[in-house]
Amino acid sequence: MNILVCNAGSTSLKFKLYDMPSEAVLAECRIERVGDGNGGLFSYKNEQKGIAVTEEQKVIPDYEAGIRAFLALLTSREQGVIGGHSDIYAVGYKTVLSKGHYGVHVIDDAVLAGMEDYLVVAPAHNTFYLQAIRTFQKIMPATPMVGVFETAYHQTMPKEAYLYSTPYEWYEKYGLRRYGYHGASHSYVADCLTKRLGYEYKAVSCHLGGSGSLTAIENGKSVDTSFGFSLQVGLPQMSRAGDIDPYFIFYLMKEEGFTIDQVEQDLQKRSGILGISGVSNDLRDVEKAAPQNERAQLAIDIYCREIVRYIGGYAAIMGGLDAIAFTGGIGENSATVRGKVLSHFGYLGLRLAGREASRGEVSTLTAEDSPLKVFVIPANEELGIARQVAAMRL
Ligand code: AMP
Repeated sequence: MNILVCNAGSTSLKFKLYDMPSEAVLAECRIERVGDGNGGLFSYKNEQKGIAVTEEQKVIPDYEAGIRAFLALLTSREQGVIGGHSDIYAVGYKTVLSKGHYGVHVIDDAVLAGMEDYLVVAPAHNTFYLQAIRTFQKIMPATPMVGVFETAYHQTMPKEAYLYSTPYEWYEKYGLRRYGYHGASHSYVADCLTKRLGYEYKAVSCHLGGSGSLTAIENGKSVDTSFGFSLQVGLPQMSRAGDIDPYFIFYLMKEEGFTIDQVEQDLQKRSGILGISGVSNDLRDVEKAAPQNERAQLAIDIYCREIVRYIGGYAAIMGGLDAIAFTGGIGENSATVRGKVLSHFGYLGLRLAGREASRGEVSTLTAEDSPLKVFVIPANEELGIARQVAAMRL
């Protein structure tokens, strides 16, 4: 069965077509700078025949043009891998949040309405998935669309992990609770850990990338996570604040004349690694600047300290820790961040093997006899989504 996975960003679209259950990637496509009059990258690859089509500056005015260009290649005689749209069993989306629908759902009007309802909580994500889904529905009306919501994996959290200490009716009436995100990534990490460690283990999955979250995993299931109701809390992000004292907001508005939009913009665009360092929202730039720049070093120190604080807290809640897993652009590539974080876990018996992570494959960084294992797991959220769509009865 062919499952198409769609990942939609503000100006980018990524697709992978899987043959399931073999998990073979048949084709993939990446489109960048959608809507930019100067054009952007359009890259398509037929993985079966090794045929690649790359245009560095293809003008893609909107999502519909991008999706149609991809589907035309996918079904073409020369470069294609399928005969027509009907060969796609379902389209799976890395959707984020829909009010009332937190798991894996066939997308119908109610699911779309739930996404609209929560636009204010996840504006940077829901907007683009709504666009992508509606475009696919128009082009392929007979194909089932499945939303693998980023909240799905965290549905196993116990109530004491997802409730905040606010008036109880905020939860009952308005649904204000921790939902957690990055579910496709953390569940893929959990699958990898289960393969390596068997079914009984306690671990923390650290998804560190453009946005970052940590998840406490017990026997494959999420029991706590650092994202909350929104994706604005938890770890400092590249330009988003992460955890703050909410009274900052009241103070700035009541005493310093900020509008709600100004505060929101500052918390989303001028905070986090960028806010502290004043250098960049790309950690590579900040790492480069750190030896000569106190604030850049401080940004890295704060980031790592927060990661340590979460891992330590989760270890205490779970009553032990068998593994730490790093994934995402930073988790996979930054030996600086990993090294700084791991230097705190000698007290749990951690013994590193002195080897580096190898690119593109699961690496074990700890010595054979280390009671606490450390893995670097290349993120593969798309495969996580394809697996969950394949498991559905459509
Ligand atoms: P992602 O969102 O998972 O694609 O990750 C993007 C983030 O990974 C960016 O902030 C990059 O700065 C960061 N990143 C990628 N490679 C490296 C590296 N070698 N060292 C430090 N950060 C990196």
